[in-house]
Formats: sequence, structure tokens, C-alpha cells
Amino acid sequence: MAFDKIKETQPKVVQLLENSLKRDRLSHAYLFEGERGTKKYETALYFAQMLLCTGEDIPCQKCHNCRRIKNKSHPNVFVIEPIKNTIRKQQIIDLQKEFSKTRIEPGPKIYIIRNIETINASAANSLLKFLEEPYPETYAILTSANINRLLPTIISRSQVVQFSTLNKRIVEEDLSESGYSDSLSRVVSNLTNSITEAVDIANNEYFLEILDLVKDIFNIIATNEESIIIYFEENSSIIYQDKLLSDLFLSLLIIYQKDIINYKINDIENIVFKDEMNIINTIAMEKTKNRLIEELEKMLGLKSRLNSYINERLAYDNLLLGLERR
Ligand SMILES: [Zn+2]
Repeated sequence: MAFDKIKETQPKVVQLLENSLKRDRLSHAYLFEGERGTKKYETALYFAQMLLCTGEDIPCQKCHNCRRIKNKSHPNVFVIEPIKNTIRKQQIIDLQKEFSKTRIEPGPKIYIIRNIETINASAANSLLKFLEEPYPETYAILTSANINRLLPTIISRSQVVQFSTLNKRIVEEDLSESGYSDSLSRVVSNLTNSITEAVDIANNEYFLEILDLVKDIFNIIATNEESIIIYFEENSSIIYQDKLLSDLFLSLLIIYQKDIINYKINDIENIVFKDEMNIINTIAMEKTKNRLIEELEKMLGLKSRLNSYINERLAYDNLLLGLERR
């Protein structure tokens, strides 16, 4: 992700950090709290850049310091990540040792501990001492997606900064900048607010297959050239492999159905499956708005009950028969 986008991605957080820096009111420990995929880590690095940048427009992304932080090679910026899902005491001891080394350059020192909720008790004790007696010009940034699992003593020694979920547009841009096609980025950004989750979905080996299945279903509804039940019977085995895939299938079906409704009410701007306009148009012309909404309600109902279904197959058949009905 482009670092110059952090400000746009988490505007409130960056504003808060900028104001504190300007007023010389920085806290020596921050706890960045927010869902997975809200750019907590990237924002922590961005904060380090704000502190160490030697350029004019801080952080300039061009100076030696900004570039080294971005490449994770600045000696004043330490990052600790859980090893096998745990942050251990040795990692905190190593951190303290690193801080006393001479290879550190003048200026602020920043340590970032990711997924701080995974810290074990003895590591937490060492860290607490470190947090209580901070070295001058030393800043800690702890990140967590699950503040409820954190020791209250850690929370009370840090300033908690809440990260909001990303908006759709940011997720979409981020995906397409990472090399995913525009249409795929658009679809996936409608499935999740989390960039981490979005990448997981886009990389899921079955995702494209499920996407095609959904497109085919609406294509069959539009052309009425074959039986949707028979087609589904032959091509849907993949979605029963795992509830996650089944959920993905229904979510995509719902997005497509909403597209048809949006087309019907002339809200073209919000259509996700933009390359399916012909099919969307055909179905929208054929069905009334009320019927489309009823169908959508059935899909949403099915999605909410998905985990309790014993006979998922039958539930899908019923749903699809309803969509096909002339
Ligand atoms: Zn700079």
C-alpha cells in the first residue's frame, strides 16, 4: 500500500497524531485498536516517518529516513511480531538490548508490537516496566484487533487510538493497486471492509469459480435457455465444501441482486457488476421492483440462517426456483 494514502485511509487517526505532534503532546505509548485489515501496522510505520522525517512536508516519503522506514530498514524503528502466535519474554529483552546499542541514530526511537494481545504473562511484565520508565524520545505503538483480550495494565499505560473500518473505495483502490483487475477489486471491496480479508478472498482458489457460478445463474435467469436447477446441480459442488464458500456464494448472489434493483431504480453509479449490464438490464426489465426486493429478502434470510441449515442444497434449490419462475 502506498504510504501517502495512509492519511486518506485513516484520516481521524492521522489527524490526531499530527495534532499531538504539532502541540508537542505525544504520548509515549499508543495502542492502535481496530479490526483486522484496518492498516494499523502501516499507520504505525507512517507515525514513525512523521517522527523521523527530515523533509519539508512531513512525512515526505522521499528522504533517507522515510524511505528506510518504508523498507523496514531504519535502525530506530523496531518491530515485534508474535512468533507462533505468542510474543515471548525474549523478544522484549532483545528489544531492550537493541535500544541500548550505539548503532541507533540520533532522534526518536519507535518500537511497534503487533498483535499485542498475544503477549504472554512474563513478556507482559517486562514490557510493563519498559512502558512505565520510558527512555527519552522513545515511542511505543502496540496494535491489536482484540482489545478485550488485553491486560488492563497495558491498556491503562497507553493512549488508545481507535481505527475505523475502511471504506469501500479505499479497499477497492488498494486491491487494484496491488494488481487485481478493476472488476474483481470492485466486487471484493463489496464483500469486506478489511483489506487483509479482501486479499484473502481475492486469493482464495475457489473465488473465481464461485464468481462465475453466480454470473452463470443470472445469465440463465435472463436467457431462460436451460434449467437453473440442473445447471446448479452440476456446477455447485464446490460451495458445499466449506461454509465460508457457501457464504461467499450467497454474498455474491446478494450483490448481484442488489445491482438489478439499483438498475431498476436508476442508481447506475452503485452497480458493482458493471460488466454484466446486459444481463442486469434484461432481468430488471422482466421483473417488478417488488418481486426483486422479495427475492433479495429471501437471499438475506437464507444467508442469516446458513449455519443452521441441515439441507442447504434444498434451500438453494427453492431459492433458485423462485428466481427462475416466469
Ligand atoms: Zn521524509
